[in-house]
Amino acid sequence: MQASTPQAVIVELCKLFYGLGWVTGTGGGISLREGGRVYMAPSGVQKERIVESDIYVMDEKGGVLEAPANTSLSPSECAPLFFKAFELRDAGAVIHSHGMEAMLVTLRHGERFACTQLEMIKGIEGHGFFDTLEVPIVDNTARERELADRMAAAIEAYPKSRAVLVRRHGVYIWGRDWVQAKTHAECYHYLFEASLRMAAMGVDAAETPAGGRALVHGGLDGEIIPKGGKP
Ligand code: ZN
Repeated sequence: MQASTPQAVIVELCKLFYGLGWVTGTGGGISLREGGRVYMAPSGVQKERIVESDIYVMDEKGGVLEAPANTSLSPSECAPLFFKAFELRDAGAVIHSHGMEAMLVTLRHGERFACTQLEMIKGIEGHGFFDTLEVPIVDNTARERELADRMAAAIEAYPKSRAVLVRRHGVYIWGRDWVQAKTHAECYHYLFEASLRMAAMGVDAAETPAGGRALVHGGLDGEIIPKGGKP
């Protein structure tokens, strides 16, 4: 990562995250907060093609200080959600992902996603291997900006979480700076995918394993039984 300015970092991360499927179809987004300024990609654009001059510069209240020369652009629809993480958690960067694994886990859980005893849990600040990692899930709304109140309530209710999942939509993930937000985002996406794959094996990622081995429902002593029974 050679990028130096916040604008250059956003452009570089958008390309990386596009490759991971987190910001395809103009969805998702990234915002950075640095030196009393907030930097944000525009709304509804192909995130892998944005350039530094497309990035909005705002004050910490959301007032636009520098708008892109291209007047057909508008600030990210996610702006009020990014600002919730800045205000309530003193975040330095927020990543909004439409990653498939983030969307799919919201179909399997009610109020929260949970998993335990997976090494990548340690990548989320304040969590150890034996902890249960929880991520609140809020229901989606027709317009992204209307999610802000629900997201604020979820952030308050789950003080250890560095993410909020949005049902049938995606996830917001933050960190103290963009480096930590990126690490958190990679770990969360890994854990979401791990829990989905474990569920396909009949293993509940939230269940404390017996002696390190997964409890497979319908199996004996950790034996994995293919769907439909033994071959
Ligand atoms: Zn979205």
